[in-house]
Amino acid sequence: PAHDDGLLAEWLDESMEAGACAAERGRVSTQIPALSEVASTHFGMAVATTDGQLVHAGDSARPFSIQSLSKLFALCALLEHDPRAWTHVGWNPTNAQFNSVAELERSGGRPANPFVNAGALVVTDLLLERSGDAVAATLDIVRRGAFGRPVVVDQDVAMAEMITDHRNSALAHVLAEHGRLKCEIERLLAQYCQQCAIAADVQTVAAASLFLADRATTSTDLAPATVRRINAVLLTSGMYGAAGDIAYRIGLPAKSGIGGGVVAVMPGRGTVCVWSPPLDSDGNSAGGVAAIERFAELAGWSVF
Ligand code: GLU
Repeated sequence: PAHDDGLLAEWLDESMEAGACAAERGRVSTQIPALSEVASTHFGMAVATTDGQLVHAGDSARPFSIQSLSKLFALCALLEHDPRAWTHVGWNPTNAQFNSVAELERSGGRPANPFVNAGALVVTDLLLERSGDAVAATLDIVRRGAFGRPVVVDQDVAMAEMITDHRNSALAHVLAEHGRLKCEIERLLAQYCQQCAIAADVQTVAAASLFLADRATTSTDLAPATVRRINAVLLTSGMYGAAGDIAYRIGLPAKSGIGGGVVAVMPGRGTVCVWSPPLDSDGNSAGGVAAIERFAELAGWSVF
């Protein structure tokens, strides 16, 4: 059914109010120095619908560090050319931290899913081997759906992560020990940090993710069955340790990142992206989750 854009704008405003309130209870990530300086009051929201609307409000034209949202786009870039990539990385949720070394050790070096750091490193490694430039391939996926909006790599953020990135380095070494990597570790880590440092605004991310909701969107060559699987893994593993909570409260496949971005997918209807830097205790954008929860309620969006 077509969405009334006046109504969409109203829903957006009401959702942003709920989000801004919840954001006050969150804390901006300190994991990457360059990101800890971002003002906690930024708030942007955008909805892209399968009937062609893009409604947005707040800081919706201001690029933010997409961080782990890049894991989604890198996975899509890889699966476009190699649908069998699932043989290298699992699809199951885990109770461990998203960057746990112990978990990777326990699993014999096979990452639980592509949205934990070990899994994303394997995805980037495969993409790097295949294309020679995993960052360019990931940027390409974002740009293809982004209506020409600016998408860049923030080199300050990439550099800050490179310097402080001991944990991802540890994960890469455990992967290498188990023979799971094809590329050289330093090169892989540099590419991974650049990929995480992609900066785009909420309009761009909502539009670039629309192919996950819309069979008619041609921005990727992914088969419908592949898109279904990606959405399934987003629902079970896209929101750190909060998958059950998000499924219960919202009921949409979603991915978030430590930069405070979160994107959710309603198959057949559209996507919604929020950027609000303060994170809740699960590491998800506190305001983002609350805004999407309210929007889903108003719009009647849920896969259940
Ligand atoms: N670049 C961050 C890391 O690799 C991304 C974390 C995240 O957004 O989950 O730890």
